[in-house]
This record gives sequence, C-alpha cells and structure tokens, in this order.
Amino acid sequence: MQALAEDRTTVRVITSAAMRAAVEWTRRDEEPRAWRELSRMTGVLMYALGPGQGPSTPLEVVELLRHPLAKILGPAAGLGGLGDLVFLDQDDRLTPAAVEVGCEYTEALFATEDPGQGWLPSWAWQRAEQVQRRVFETLISSGTEEAYSAARRFLIENPAGDESGLTALMNAGRIRRAVAFGPIPADRVHRSPGGACWWPCPVCGWPMAVRGDDVACGYSHHQARFRADTHSAGLPQLVKISQARIRVPDPQPEHGARCVDMAVWRFITVPGVPELQLERRLLAVPGVAVTMWPRMDRIDLAVRTPAGDWEVDVKDHADPVTIAEGRCPAARDVVVPDYRRSQVSPLARMMPGKRVWTISGFVRRVRADVSGEAR
Ligand SMILES: [Zn+2]
Repeated sequence: MQALAEDRTTVRVITSAAMRAAVEWTRRDEEPRAWRELSRMTGVLMYALGPGQGPSTPLEVVELLRHPLAKILGPAAGLGGLGDLVFLDQDDRLTPAAVEVGCEYTEALFATEDPGQGWLPSWAWQRAEQVQRRVFETLISSGTEEAYSAARRFLIENPAGDESGLTALMNAGRIRRAVAFGPIPADRVHRSPGGACWWPCPVCGWPMAVRGDDVACGYSHHQARFRADTHSAGLPQLVKISQARIRVPDPQPEHGARCVDMAVWRFITVPGVPELQLERRLLAVPGVAVTMWPRMDRIDLAVRTPAGDWEVDVKDHADPVTIAEGRCPAARDVVVPDYRRSQVSPLARMMPGKRVWTISGFVRRVRADVSGEAR
C-alpha cells in the first residue's frame, strides 16, 4: 500500500481519524457504538487517502494503528514530524504519545453534529479551545474575570486529590466548580497487598499512568518516570528512574480520591503548567506584576513592569505549525517552554510581527529591562 497525504489539511484529517479509531478500538468491549464509529473512521481515511491507497476495512485500520503513522501518511509524515507516532501499544492500549501529540491535530470531522459526541472523550473530537470554552462556559457568560481566572488556576494546581481536601480548598478560595471530578481511572491505580493507591505527577499533579510497577506521567516533557517498590509493607513507595530534578510523590489511597477527566488535564492543566511557571518566575523580578488570563483569556499573561508592559501567550505544542496555523496567538510576545527552544526560530519565521521567546529568555529580558530602568 502506498500512501499519500500531500498537504497539511489531509495530514490533520488523517491524524484525527486515526486517533479516533484508536480510542474507539480501546472501547469496543463496553461501547456498542464503537464498531460503527470505527467503520466511519475507515471511510474518512479511505476518502482522505484516495481510491485504493489506504486501508479498506476497520481491522486493516487497527493493524496500521499499531505501527508508526508514517505507514499511513507516507512522505507527508515529515510535515508535522508525525511519522513516529504510534497509537496502540502491544496490548492495544492507547499510547501516551497518542494523547500527548495526536490531540494537537484533533479536527472537526463532521460539519453537523458529531456522532461520537455522546460517548467519545472530548479530546478525541474537539479542539483544545473548544474543550476550554465548554469547561468555562458558565464562568465566561456570567462570571467575573476574577472568578474565571481563579477557577482556571484551580484546575491547573489541583487536578487531583482527596475529595474532602479538594472541597475544602474550593470553599476556602471561593472557587466556582467548573468541572466534575471523577474517580481515579483504573489504569492509574496501583494494586498490591499493601492496598490500592495512585501517585500525582510531581509536575502537573494528575494521576500518573501505572503499568505493572512502572509509573509515569502521560506527558513526556514532565519527565516523571518511576518504579513502585512493593517489597516493604504498606502502600508502595516510588523510586525515581528519570534524570529530572523532581520530587518523588507519596502514594495516595485510591479510596476517596478524585481527579479531572483526561480532556481537562490535557487541555487546561498541561498547558497551564508553563503558564504558571512563567508567572512564578516573573513575580520573582522586583517591581513586576502579572495578571493571568485577563479579559477571560484573550491573552495568557499581562505583565506590568516599571520599564513597560507586555502581553504574552504561552504555547506548548509538539508541532509549531499548529501554533501558527491554528488560532494564531493574540499577544505580541509568544513564549514556549525551555524544552521547546528549537521552535523559537521557526515560529518567528512563521509569525512575522510576533516576538518569540523561551520562558528563560523572556524572564531574562524582563529582568534586564527592569534593572536598566532602575539604573
Ligand atoms: Zn505530569
């Protein structure tokens, strides 16, 4: 089979359809609508790839999902650096990369009502901004700017925890409940004679994925990888495997624990981590004030300094093209996490008129401006 997606629109449609098909395959046992949806995605792929070029049955699609996406995309895989993306692992579970990278390409595949809407997780069929808008709908329509940004900050800082602790925090901060918190997903719970427990990622706070005794955050850039030590009595303690300088979280009992769903984590918590990291580092510069998500998220940060004001959007995408071609950032200054420093030059080329920085580069610039002003 030869494949042939020539342009980025086709790449988006194919990646989107492949991801949906993978989610549908993982849910086929409990969801009667999964097979019909899988056939629909087979049709989408056949249409996108052209007659005789792509898979022609749902099972052929599923077989391809166990291989790098390059097998479907062909030469076009280079367009988004998507060639290595694999959707299903050897046990036919959705890979972390599918959620981390694939959902950047999530595309509305249906002009009218989406048939997957009733049961597919929203990250599989909605774009990030649609998920964000849905979560904050009531706050945007009726809340104040403060209520909006407090609720948003809460979902970034507390995406999981003990139910009574979460409620106490919300009451203390007068946080309006924007989303429901559900039980910890089964693939994030570790079971041993010591009991059932989960661990929050030390970077994002959401339950890490558990596979046997391997424990890791689904977002690879958090570099949170551990091994559960089940030899001692009680709940197992983690041993750090990654080189990152992160703390080792304590085990949390499953009973009474709650977390936001994967869409909220992926589209609000994960992108919020570098936003709040930038805020924290800017506030350490004397004389600097920061407002988060002013005017209900028109931009990410408004930065006020004695030397002048800045408007900033923080973008954490695997593929820089999805930043430039999506809802192009509104702010003049665009900041990427330090681990995306290789995107600075290409982004500056793609978005003339914007200034592009890493978090560290931007903080250095603000610090230099402020100390220049003080001289
Ligand atoms: Zn994490």
